[in-house]
Amino acid sequence: MSANICQPLNKNKKVNKETFVSSLLLQMTLKEKIGQMSQFNNDDKKLKSSIQKGYVGSVLNEVDINTINELQRIATQESRLGIPLLIGRDVIHGFNTIFPIPLGQAASWSTELVETCANIAAIESSSNGVNWTFAPMIDISRDPRWGRMAESLGEDPYLCSTLGVAMVKGFQGENLSDTTSIAACAKHFAGYGASESGRDYNTTNIPENELRNVYLPPFKALADAGVSTFMASFSDLNGVPVTGNSWLLNDVLREEWQYTGPVVSDWGSIPQLVTHGFSVDEKSAAFEACQAGVDMEMASDTYAKNLPSLIKSNNVNIEKVDLMVTRILTLKYDLGLFENTFTQSTPLDEHSNDFHLYVAKKAATKSCVLLKNTNQILPLSTSKITSLAVIGPLADDGYEQLGTWVFDAKINRSITPLQAIKDYVGDSIDVKFSQGLATSRSNNQKDFNEAIQIAISADIAIMILGEEAILSGEAHCRSNIDLPGCQEQLINAIYETGTPIVLVIMAGRPITLEKILPKVDAVLFAWHPGTMGGPAITELLFGEACPSGKLPVTFPRTVGQIPLYYAQKNTGRPASDATFVDINDIEIRAPQTSLGMTSTHLDTHFSPLFPFGFGLSYTQFEYKDINVNMCSVTMGESIEISATISNTGCFDAEEVVQLYIRDLVGSVTRPVKELKGFQRIYLAVGHSKTVVFKVHTDELAFYNRQMKLNTEPGLFNAWIGCNSDTDLKIAFEVILEQ
Ligand code: BGC
Repeated sequence: MSANICQPLNKNKKVNKETFVSSLLLQMTLKEKIGQMSQFNNDDKKLKSSIQKGYVGSVLNEVDINTINELQRIATQESRLGIPLLIGRDVIHGFNTIFPIPLGQAASWSTELVETCANIAAIESSSNGVNWTFAPMIDISRDPRWGRMAESLGEDPYLCSTLGVAMVKGFQGENLSDTTSIAACAKHFAGYGASESGRDYNTTNIPENELRNVYLPPFKALADAGVSTFMASFSDLNGVPVTGNSWLLNDVLREEWQYTGPVVSDWGSIPQLVTHGFSVDEKSAAFEACQAGVDMEMASDTYAKNLPSLIKSNNVNIEKVDLMVTRILTLKYDLGLFENTFTQSTPLDEHSNDFHLYVAKKAATKSCVLLKNTNQILPLSTSKITSLAVIGPLADDGYEQLGTWVFDAKINRSITPLQAIKDYVGDSIDVKFSQGLATSRSNNQKDFNEAIQIAISADIAIMILGEEAILSGEAHCRSNIDLPGCQEQLINAIYETGTPIVLVIMAGRPITLEKILPKVDAVLFAWHPGTMGGPAITELLFGEACPSGKLPVTFPRTVGQIPLYYAQKNTGRPASDATFVDINDIEIRAPQTSLGMTSTHLDTHFSPLFPFGFGLSYTQFEYKDINVNMCSVTMGESIEISATISNTGCFDAEEVVQLYIRDLVGSVTRPVKELKGFQRIYLAVGHSKTVVFKVHTDELAFYNRQMKLNTEPGLFNAWIGCNSDTDLKIAFEVILEQ
């Protein structure tokens, strides 16, 4: 084949996008069109020859800049029409520099930081030739057994939407065609986080009302914010796998939301329609996915094999395929690929690298959540301590602190807590280290004695435990979310020494800590904090920085409480402290109706261990004077809800001020609390600030019984506080007219 036979790529910018794309489409053969709808993995043996034929629209998982440039050269100079490639990669929480896992970043409640982290990830990955990331994952995640909670932004639609939009802005930059911008992807559309029993890829059954009120809002927010692409979920949604779910992909995404970007399948999810028992064979799977609106097939070739005959037999309409190809070509145009196809090799200068590490440290610092701090044991004072025992399998492991999805991490850049603590204290404090256990999963207690010995001779034991990276992420689910292996026994052993314990946990999900809490004096939850986890943790432990992270997910006491989330419904018989009965206090042969008859478990408290939004500080914040600027707000207008927050403690610090509302009566029942706003503020010691939240009545809307988005008039409560369990409350009313 001779190259560029009918090369149409008039690079004259005056040709507008629509004309450019449609004239290109006009010249394409059916196979070339289907080629654009095919994404090949980089290890596919036929990759280069297929690109040459014009049968590849996108390549995933190639990150070597020379190889990418060579593939782009083949695509643009050897294929008939010279169409450049989308180069996709899972750039999830950093590329070379790794930031906290998304769940950790969500704990920062900082749109600014989340955007900056994504922006740096875009700069680093685009400098290698990547132009498309499969992030952010905005699946509402309410089941910590699910390994992919690590990749999520937590349990709440508002938090997830706000931070998800920030991430998209960071990846896509001011202009998608900038060489440092990459296309983002809203995934996994939709409901994947509701996988039954927290087992990955499992069935989801989500009533439409809940889907629309809880699971879809982040996707709608990202569509409105201009996210370039969507990814269809692997999961079966109410009996129809999403990859073949025309209602979700056509009716909701295209018709209702008017979304115009391409939808990519998940890895091999089109042929998996056969495995689901939804399609009889791959041909029918290709038909279903195409009809449903999956524009590009990831990693498998059911489109390439079956669409030609499906189109020829008029089962699939060519106009539909043309529209799908148009979406893909338009994205390539928007990315500027027709003009700037190749990536210049420009290694980042020292200053950029330093800045990336600075942001990584800042993000990790703001992501850590202080869960317990008895007698203000933290921050540690170097003048009062002469010896420290650092114990645990995660204290000095530069790989495990990075968490899931870190294919491109520069692991040697990681600074571990042990290294950072030693650097910080220098010779002033004697630091001894014992791993205690070979890994976080280990049940071998042979090194316990060494750990006990160093704890005995230390003023404080800093235990760095949790889950190694492989225990969370895709297909890495757990049925028990206690600390794995013998870590609890290790805590017990150190507790017996009488040395106070500061526990730092690195993990990809909430861990059930109820049994451990009484044994330790402080708990700092660090998620998987990334490259700069060590320095961030060290600065927090020694008071160079003040903890300000807040939980983006509820921490259950026990796995049996799952699903447990703050925005639950009240039920007809809500549990309360007044009726709570401990299982040990039940009299023998107590009468059937003597136990309060409320919605609770007998063998655990009805409340979580730590509520959504929770996180301590080294200082104290006092919340008072909640107020509204009007007692009743007319539909279509805004109300201002405010409160005064004072730093009454001894540290200058940041605080995440949170606004929750409750719609007291609805045509469908409403959650007991819903996050409607948050602000991260800085308060010096002794200072106060009145924080004002402006809420439009549209922001109080929910999908009603007719699945219409509507604000209903009536009474509301509003709370402003430091977490979702706040009491500082005021009422207001939404009225139709004054
Ligand atoms: C995951 C996606 C990911 C894709 C490509 C799939 O297994 O579900 O989230 O983007 O692989 O790596």
